[in-house]
Amino acid sequence: MKCLNCGNAINNNLKIKEIFLFKEIVPNYICNLCRQELAPLAGRNNCPRCSKPESEGICSDCRMWDDKSGIINCHQALFEYNQFIHSYFKLYKRYGDVLLARLFYQDIKNWSLRNHFDVVTYIPASKSHLQARGFDPVYELYADIFDLQSLLIKVDADKPQAQKNRNERLRTPQTFSALPALNQIQKEARILILDDIYTTGRTLMHAHDIFLTAGFQKISTFSLSR
Ligand SMILES: [Zn+2]
Ligand SMILES: [Zn+2]
Repeated sequence: MKCLNCGNAINNNLKIKEIFLFKEIVPNYICNLCRQELAPLAGRNNCPRCSKPESEGICSDCRMWDDKSGIINCHQALFEYNQFIHSYFKLYKRYGDVLLARLFYQDIKNWSLRNHFDVVTYIPASKSHLQARGFDPVYELYADIFDLQSLLIKVDADKPQAQKNRNERLRTPQTFSALPALNQIQKEARILILDDIYTTGRTLMHAHDIFLTAGFQKISTFSLSR
């Protein structure tokens, strides 16, 4: 198999244990050289609310939300937002290389095997983005791994989050509304909301608000990068 990012061959050396224990073998689409460019978040004194690394307690981003009710309080993410992740999302989203959706398959799949939810949904692209790009990047990132339900709809904003500065992002009003399917779900259900990148938390906070207002209490959030 070849690395989806650089084309190098991937050596999927199976451990003896994996062969004999009939463990589910999770395919890998990223080579070791590319993997070395990643900065995993596990075990780095992360902010307990948003997983920002080296925070030593509640981070400055989260403290901005302190006076607001219904904040996200244990966001999980796998990798720090660094140059590699930045370039990855540029190729995947801006240049529309949909095959890159599976680059992190193994990492996300392994996380999904350790964390359990009743309903998994995602931050949808706006209609104009979807039309321009031809695919929904967050949906494609997770569709092979989770049984995704479409529960939110995004209204077209004045400009995309990526083009806004920090203050503009924080001031953005609610950009989602609930689809009718959301009302069919039992309020006790454990909900997981997926996004690709957590920056200020504004986007996931809005999605989280929709579920909170609808009466759900067990709401978790996850992103590939923080
Ligand atoms: Zn590679
Ligand atoms: Zn934080």
